[in-house]
Amino acid sequence: MAKAKIEIELAALMTAKAAWLHDHGEPAGEASNMAKYAAAEAALGAIDAAIQCHGGNGFATEYGLLPYWGLARVLRVAPVNREMILNFVAQHSLGLPRSY
Ligand SMILES: Cc1cc2nc3c(=O)[nH]c(=O)nc-3n(C[C@H](O)[C@H](O)[C@H](O)COP(=O)(O)OP(=O)(O)OC[C@H]3O[C@@H](n4cnc5c(N)ncnc54)[C@H](O)[C@@H]3O)c2cc1C
Repeated sequence: MAKAKIEIELAALMTAKAAWLHDHGEPAGEASNMAKYAAAEAALGAIDAAIQCHGGNGFATEYGLLPYWGLARVLRVAPVNREMILNFVAQHSLGLPRSY
């Protein structure tokens, strides 16, 4: 859960950076993609930690955790999937050739 807390804080920082760049008219594509990637991974890590902490109860409907897993898992696919973010960073941040 501490790891989840750290990763959520890191994602929030990158989100704030992306918002700051956008608000100041600066290119925000790289930071926005990184923020979305980090937030999706942090959300999924956090719900996974919560389920693990609750053991078998983490899967019981009474504990209400599984719906959050579904919500967090969607973020790896939509609105932009994880692989397309990695493609963006590879191409635009690292200068690698477009891979698709
Ligand atoms: C709950 C939900 C709500 C949505 N709401 C909206 C909405 O309101 N408006 C809207 O416009 N869209 C919406 N979408 C669609 C969403 O944007 C797409 O599902 C998402 O962009 C992924 O596209 P796709 O489903 O066509 O998957 P695909 O493009 O077929 O990708 C499938 C998988 O293949 C991999 N992949 C794809 N391309 C590459 C690549 N170039 N390199 C490496 N791997 C790759 C990724 O792992 C990806 O997850 C929604 C989707 C969901 C699940």
